[in-house]
Amino acid sequence: MTQFVDVKIMTALVNGYGLETFLEKLVHFIEEDFFDWQSFDKSPRSAAHSELGVIELMPVANDRQYSFKYVNGHPDNSTYQLPTVMAFGVLADVKTGYPLLLSELTLATAIRTAAASIVAAKMLARPDSSSMALIGNGCQSEFQAIAFHSLLGINKIYCYDVDPHASMKLAHNLAKYQNLELVICDSVNEAVEFADIITTVTADKKLATIITEDMVKPGVHINGVGGDCPGKTELAKDVLLNAEIFVEFESQSRIEGDIQQLSADHKVVELWQVLTGRAHGRTNGQQITVFDSVGFALEDFSTLRLIFQLVEDFRINNEIELIPTFMDPKDLFSLLV
Ligand code: NAD
Repeated sequence: MTQFVDVKIMTALVNGYGLETFLEKLVHFIEEDFFDWQSFDKSPRSAAHSELGVIELMPVANDRQYSFKYVNGHPDNSTYQLPTVMAFGVLADVKTGYPLLLSELTLATAIRTAAASIVAAKMLARPDSSSMALIGNGCQSEFQAIAFHSLLGINKIYCYDVDPHASMKLAHNLAKYQNLELVICDSVNEAVEFADIITTVTADKKLATIITEDMVKPGVHINGVGGDCPGKTELAKDVLLNAEIFVEFESQSRIEGDIQQLSADHKVVELWQVLTGRAHGRTNGQQITVFDSVGFALEDFSTLRLIFQLVEDFRINNEIELIPTFMDPKDLFSLLV
């Protein structure tokens, strides 16, 4: 039987564990899998583009487990009372191909994206960073804010969104974090002025230039999350040309990341190389670093792995018969009689 984690169970798992603890655990799981990078069968995700958005399938496997995520990105979805990003995924046993877990991943994607941002920022942001600009205050924003506050000690966040209601919603949702000061700004310029880290997490299906070169001071780390599709970017090309750039999986990021604006031979470093000591992360306080996040299947593998472990630890038994059970494995027809 297959374990089924729907939105209700996922919410209970995250709340039961505590979001901060869940994030911390997931950072650890992602680091563990990135450490094992070479043992995974990896490929850029398959993407079906349309005028208003994209639908993607993200598979990855090692010799024990296989996972895939279905995810979309439709920036105008709020018109239909739907979120921009919606997702679900499967974790399967490689030995038999049996699906072990079918899980909601919309909520989990926001948590994993924030966790991946932390994996990168731990290696790339200045260790004395204490403030962050958060540009784009939609669904992902609380998770980014809480992750940076609870795991990296960021205690002041300058927020900006073209939609002031989104910033007010963010401030309202974060009100209980008394040691986190939130400043709602009127422009990107105002938000980035005193920030050690700049997180961009906007949704617009165009080659946007949210961050321009004049906004980026020496020593800043940019966590670019929203530029994740062909024709959908957030950073001006000059920002990239003046920075050291880090990505998840180069062949996917060249197509989808902000680095789609650069020539194919422009140097970028994959995070796993820094994590395993094969390459340097930040080496001094003056460097400008960019994590050009697009979201990679291995992060979802780690997430599904954690969810499956929690389901077992908490003895949640919500099994469904996704695959038919029958006595003679050669007699599928018996199900119908
Ligand atoms: P959302 O629609 O809930 O929020 C996006 C926000 O960006 C909105 O509030 C919108 O008003 C704001 N915005 C749009 N243009 C802006 C601009 N020029 N300046 C300031 N704010 C602007 O979407 P979400 O779920 O929060 O996702 C945000 C982005 O992150 C999307 O582009 C999504 O594709 C991307 N994403 C990336 C990853 C990853 O792994 N890299 C994972 C999840 C989502």
